[in-house]
Amino acid sequence: MEHDPNCLFCKIVQGAIPSRKVYEDDQVFAFHDINPWAPVHFLLVPKRHIVSFAHVDAQHAPLLGHLMMLAPKLALQEGCRPYPEGGFRIVSNTGAEGGQEVHHLHVHVMGGPRPWLRG
Ligand code: 5GP
Ligand code: ZN
Repeated sequence: MEHDPNCLFCKIVQGAIPSRKVYEDDQVFAFHDINPWAPVHFLLVPKRHIVSFAHVDAQHAPLLGHLMMLAPKLALQEGCRPYPEGGFRIVSNTGAEGGQEVHHLHVHVMGGPRPWLRG
């Protein structure tokens, strides 16, 4: 598995920095955001270090398909109500103008009753 020793999310994936785990398999890791905007707010990341969505190509399609397929399942598991009354928001900040702070590809999955702190 390719990890970047200086990357926060690589350290979280490897357990070197603790997190509240939501889900893990051989390809992806999900954990609660430390500073949640919504009643449900977790991050879903590939285990291997990919900098951002600006860095993906065809070779990443199966991994990203797997990751995105998990988002709705984990959202329900974490307490989001079902569509259409409930639902969730998926966000991926990419690059400086996209608001990306941690440079390891991740999607935010947010949901739960309104109002939210942000978003
Ligand atoms: P970005 O702006 O890069 O999309 O978002 C990074 C997210 O990572 C932020 O929502 C922030 O709260 C979260 N985050 C930053 N450091 C940590 C940490 O050490 N642990 C956890 N669980 N989340 C973090
Ligand atoms: Zn990383």
